[in-house]
Amino acid sequence: MAQTSPLILRLIASSVCVANKAGTIIRDVMSKGELGIVEKGKNDLQTEADRSAQCCIIASLSSQFPAATIIGEEGEQVNQNVPSDWLVNEVDSSVLEASCPDNLKGIKEEEVSFNFGLNPFLIILRCLSIRKLKNGLLDHVTVLIGVAVGEKAVGGVIHQPYYNYLKEGAPLGRTIWGVDGCGFGGFSVGSPLKDKRIITTTRSHCDAAVQSALDAMCPDEILRVGGAGHKVLLLLEGKANAYVFASGGCKKWDTCAPEAILHSIGGRMTDMVKGEPYRYHASVEHRNWGGVLATATGEDHAWYFSRIPESVREKLSKSAP
Ligand code: AMP
Ligand code: MG
Repeated sequence: MAQTSPLILRLIASSVCVANKAGTIIRDVMSKGELGIVEKGKNDLQTEADRSAQCCIIASLSSQFPAATIIGEEGEQVNQNVPSDWLVNEVDSSVLEASCPDNLKGIKEEEVSFNFGLNPFLIILRCLSIRKLKNGLLDHVTVLIGVAVGEKAVGGVIHQPYYNYLKEGAPLGRTIWGVDGCGFGGFSVGSPLKDKRIITTTRSHCDAAVQSALDAMCPDEILRVGGAGHKVLLLLEGKANAYVFASGGCKKWDTCAPEAILHSIGGRMTDMVKGEPYRYHASVEHRNWGGVLATATGEDHAWYFSRIPESVREKLSKSAP
């Protein structure tokens, strides 16, 4: 790797290749069909794909960046022998070509934490009927690797292992990246939607508070899709104006990468109680108790925030321990 490149770019350039490998592992597990499902909690399942991808991500990132903290959805331990071909050393050279602003040049590896996770195998497991998968649900699957420096989500990678899976002959899978204040790649920013208010939200964790926040924003259309990564992709590509989730169900590994990438195009993601970005330092609480409000453009955020019902805000603030 070009060790002379700024650390933030090397972190992202490596994460792109690690996420690609995790995607290959996921497809391999899925195609063999031996999913090894473990129930972690209500509505929260883990599969062999989650465990193996996690193993690849931790082993690869920790060997390249030993002083960084690594926080993973399935824990931080690699408890199996890591096959040598899961250890990724490559970097994506296109990321290294980005020009790094001065404020990101002096970062030290010890200040860095990776927050990574996989979204959302639950929907696949529930929808293993071929008919539903053919309707596009595999597109919702994402590998997320977020990079925080101190408390701030600075960079991130979203990999979709099944992107294009419904298009014959098209290359399977894609990886997008972004660094706040620096640049992004792997996608084209969509034009902001002006004529319609389209809101994206959860498809599997809806409750009365989630619905009441959505209703208060009078959407023309609601896109219920799985995973924080997939929802933010809809914002990045101009398919939705806002992502609204009035629940404390998302964790730091769900939002770190999407938040940083969204900020890299001028969008904004915050909690729904104070309207502040989440903090991601190594010892931070994993749950995002204050819900998620994200908008494709920074200017739109204030309007959506102003519409959140007081009862929803109160419920979210009381839900934190
Ligand atoms: P969703 O938008 O429902 O796909 O959720 C985005 C991410 O947050 C996924 O990784 C979910 O597993 C997680 N999540 C959201 N709500 C909950 C919940 N009530 N219980 C467990 N995980 C949740
Ligand atoms: Mg998950």
